[in-house]
Amino acid sequence: MSTETPVLQQHFIGQIVREDLASGKHKVIHTRFPPEPNGYLHLGHAKSICLNYGLATEFAGTCNLRFDDTNPSKEDVEYVDAIQRDVKWLGFEWAELRHASDYFDVFYRSALKLIRLGVAYVDDLSAEEVREYRGTLTEPGRNSPYRDRTIDENLDLFQRMRAGEFADGSKTLRAKIDMTAGNINLRDPALYRVRKVHHQNTGDAWPIYPMYDFAHSLSDALEGITHSLCTLEFEDHRPLYDWCVDKVDLAHDPELWQSLVDAGLPTTPSKPRQIEFSRGNLNYTVMSKRKLITLVSENLVDGWDDPRMPTIAGVRRRGFTAAGIRLFWERVGVSKQNSTIDMSVLEGAVREDLDGVAPRRLAVIDPVKLVITNLDAAHHESLTFPNHPKDESFGTRSVPFSPELWIEREDFAEIPPKGFHRLKPEGEVRLRGVGIVKCDEVIKDANGEVSELRCTLDLESRTGMPGADRKVKGTIHWVSAPDAVPAVVRLYDRLFDAADPDDDSDGKTYKDHINPHSRRVVHAYVEPAAAAAAREDRLQFERLGYFVADMHDHTPGTPVFNRVVTLRDSWAKQA
Ligand code: ATP
Ligand code: MG
Repeated sequence: MSTETPVLQQHFIGQIVREDLASGKHKVIHTRFPPEPNGYLHLGHAKSICLNYGLATEFAGTCNLRFDDTNPSKEDVEYVDAIQRDVKWLGFEWAELRHASDYFDVFYRSALKLIRLGVAYVDDLSAEEVREYRGTLTEPGRNSPYRDRTIDENLDLFQRMRAGEFADGSKTLRAKIDMTAGNINLRDPALYRVRKVHHQNTGDAWPIYPMYDFAHSLSDALEGITHSLCTLEFEDHRPLYDWCVDKVDLAHDPELWQSLVDAGLPTTPSKPRQIEFSRGNLNYTVMSKRKLITLVSENLVDGWDDPRMPTIAGVRRRGFTAAGIRLFWERVGVSKQNSTIDMSVLEGAVREDLDGVAPRRLAVIDPVKLVITNLDAAHHESLTFPNHPKDESFGTRSVPFSPELWIEREDFAEIPPKGFHRLKPEGEVRLRGVGIVKCDEVIKDANGEVSELRCTLDLESRTGMPGADRKVKGTIHWVSAPDAVPAVVRLYDRLFDAADPDDDSDGKTYKDHINPHSRRVVHAYVEPAAAAAAREDRLQFERLGYFVADMHDHTPGTPVFNRVVTLRDSWAKQA
């Protein structure tokens, strides 16, 4: 059971798609999610995944997963595997798995075509010179002295670039567009560069690699993508995107891509429309891959799936649900307005989903002993507890009960503050599912710390007895000490203690804002039914929050739980 309802894409992109289908511009829509395998996916990527797969699902189209693997020096198979795992975990299935590197031959032939059309040339300027010639936002650029090479000379040089004759950085292939264009992206952008590096997919086959704009636009067209959704920073690249698609014109030049069809990759080129939307940002975290890589490589966290990380692997291990994450991005919506969303909105969505799906259990994370003196020491019962207060389909379970219990230390106060309704000397409280106990005696250890509370149970107040509805203000949870299973419980909190850890205007970087209290490990006691959880089972420990059995470390014999979220937003009052 989940709180999910079918997602309707009510935002402006959903509207465009709806119109394109209604007008007959497209019979079927095709989208894609194009990660670069240079890091793990994070919550921001999940926004793009939900959008692209969400549209394909709602409008009965398809969505590809495409690795944008054109920059081999930063890429790794570990990331390729992790990305597939994470996308699946989020609940999406791709129509086809593609790689930009599947198209390297097509890109190469397309580049030759552009040279023959006289709209691309080989340039010998160094990277620094290219920058100098490019001009600025207020000044036009200047033509490279190599811009007017003949077509034959360009063909020869580009083929020799491909043959590996030239050193890294010594030559580029550039589009011949307009060095005076107002949009700097159109000032003869590079299409290819020389890079003699090993590629995780194509090995050492290529000494040249295509640039992002060229490879991305042609990959979209090759896959028949109808709506190419990207984040706002690519708005200024759109004219170049369109230029590449139009000049190469794959649809009318099947020779360029026949090799894909022969290799079993169905190809029906389209003229894709690029549409930009704003990035998803969250406070109290960082989402740039560079920073996430640093956190991992400098051991500031325990790896990519540290439960405090905003990576999909991290939030999964933390116990967030895929449905909660999808609900969150659905609520946030899609627009062109840049904004930062409060982490509590995500936590709220996860909490809401968990409320419907997490069975209830009893656990005590800061235990103090409570002994019921008016029951025989050997007394033992099995109580029946519902697994979910609002959903009978969860059934019931047996909870062992005995006169020796663990309760939460903070549920007792020797000098109770105003409004304290739990246990105090001579006071009464209800033990969840048992009855009312009165605290007769407080025993302390040598340090003056409370070590045991001796209580009498009002037998008339026991569940099922006529006096069961006698009112007391507080109800507390407990576990039976002889039956309880010791458990390691990790109490996670936000990784950063600043709302905007990226803001370094005060001279402090995100590394200075790591929340020292973001992980606390406690030794707790849980009822046997909680210990029996399978890895990744999510439970509500009553009154404490939602917890997940750790996906690596938990075993029913030695339980390890991570706190997913507290039951209420504990940050709201601090804001
Ligand atoms: P970085 O700049 O940190 O390397 P990226 O955006 O380049 O990240 P990619 O792997 O290229 O990372 O992203 C894959 C897809 O996910 C792209 O379409 C990108 O626009 C989208 N994406 C990345 N971050 C976000 C975000 N915060 N919100 C929405 N979409 C995002
Ligand atoms: Mg990118």
